Amino acid sequence: MKVVVIGGGAGGLSTASNIRKYDENAEITVITRDEHIAYSPCAIPYVLCGEVDCFENIIMHEPADYLERNINVITRAEVVEVKEAENTIKYHLQEGQNVVQNELEYDYLVIATGGSPFIPPMEGCYLDGVFKIRTIKDGQQIMGWAEKSKKAIVVGAGLIGLEIAFGLKNMGLVVTVTEMLPQIVPRSLDPDMAKIVQNYIEKLGINVILGKPIEKIKGETVVEGAVFGDEELEADMVILATGVRPEIAMAKMAGCDIGRWAIEVNEKMQTSVPNIYAVGDCVEVFDAITGHNTQSPLGSTAVRQSKIAAKNIVGMKAEFKPVLNSMVSKIGNLEFGAVGLTTTLALQNGIKVVSGKKNALTKARYYPGAKRIDVKMVCDMNGKIIGCQIIAEERVAERVDTMSLAIAQELTCAELSNMEFSYAPPVSMVIDPIILAAEDACEKLKRLQKRKENNKDSINTNSNNLSS
Ligand SMILES: Cc1cc2nc3c(=O)[nH]c(=O)nc-3n(C[C@H](O)[C@H](O)[C@H](O)COP(=O)(O)OP(=O)(O)OC[C@H]3O[C@@H](n4cnc5c(N)ncnc54)[C@H](O)[C@@H]3O)c2cc1C
Repeated sequence: MKVVVIGGGAGGLSTASNIRKYDENAEITVITRDEHIAYSPCAIPYVLCGEVDCFENIIMHEPADYLERNINVITRAEVVEVKEAENTIKYHLQEGQNVVQNELEYDYLVIATGGSPFIPPMEGCYLDGVFKIRTIKDGQQIMGWAEKSKKAIVVGAGLIGLEIAFGLKNMGLVVTVTEMLPQIVPRSLDPDMAKIVQNYIEKLGINVILGKPIEKIKGETVVEGAVFGDEELEADMVILATGVRPEIAMAKMAGCDIGRWAIEVNEKMQTSVPNIYAVGDCVEVFDAITGHNTQSPLGSTAVRQSKIAAKNIVGMKAEFKPVLNSMVSKIGNLEFGAVGLTTTLALQNGIKVVSGKKNALTKARYYPGAKRIDVKMVCDMNGKIIGCQIIAEERVAERVDTMSLAIAQELTCAELSNMEFSYAPPVSMVIDPIILAAEDACEKLKRLQKRKENNKDSINTNSNNLSS
């Protein structure tokens, strides 16, 4: 069986490795236009901020490591054509100064082409000193430019924007993060929770401008600043962290169906062309709560999808389940994470919700080093948990994962509040903050129920009075 994988990121390389795990005879070739493979883009901000020593440390494998497992990885090679009818791909390989054209046959093709940063259509985006952030090379270029800069603007206050902003701040720059929406991290946090993170990053000295879309980047050949409505800022560098667009050109060429956002796949990660599979940022998935198509541009999703695609390609059965988009991030000492829907997203999807909120401590009150923790739990009107957001200086990821399990198991806040959690003063509170938030949601639901019953009673009384 010949398998060709386009893309040497998390999705592509994991699919190749998983196929090898299940089938020792498959002939596997991975083609990527990048120079480096098997590195973690997620770690780029942590190299900038100095927590990881250097970019070399985030490269986990070289092509030679894959060759040892009989996986042929071809780097600096761009796939330019997929001939679906002939089961072949054509690629251009950079060999020194020359570009060589080659062709490969496949029985199965895996499209793992990821996404490319969205560059807003505006003046100044291509000036020197304006950067996007996706690859290790982008990270290296940002670091090189930052070393000779004083002021930076990061456009976009999603996770990646904030992580990069912190990295640049730690390098000694004056940093401003700008966001067109009225809050930071709009995809994962509600405004009240986002404000906690905003206060924290402002205390670190990062400036935040909200509700103002960038209009243009100023400069002749090199960036000098940027304009946001009535506001104008000077800067030596601008980083565009304005989202990711799926790379779907190869899939389109192969005749695969494209959905609302990206490549359409079934639960086997198979496209509409039966011997072509697709994984990672280039595909769209189902949202577990709304049932609608959505995107899940996360390394964790790409790796999970790669297992499913590999199993189905080798003839085993596996299904990719709809996503809850669990995420977590860390800026300075503050961790924040979320899973499922926020109140805002739920309401946008026509789901009425009640939220339980609690701020508590991560350890027993008297124990040295206890940190504040904020939990917001989002439940539908039947009490079923559909989302959770958590902010603290420790143990956020484990709690987000607990909530991911709870949501996947369709627990209600009442059921969760009766669950058994472990306790010892140095590591936890006797009643976990998650339970306290679930109890708060239960109380609110009860109050709403009571109000509804009272309203019904008063309507009944009124109508009895009217009829008597
Ligand atoms: C700064 C940053 C921080 C992040 N932090 C997190 C995090 O903390 N947690 C998390 O879960 N996710 C995080 N992500 C997202 C995560 O990195 C992506 O979701 C993940 O890399 C997607 O993997 P992929 O294989 O789909 O795409 P990619 O990693 O983008 O790989 C796609 C590959 O395909 C290649 N390619 C595309 N077209 C062609 C072609 N025609 N021919 C040859 N090769 C081609 C590209 O060159 C690339 O090598 C972060 C991303 C960034 C940029």
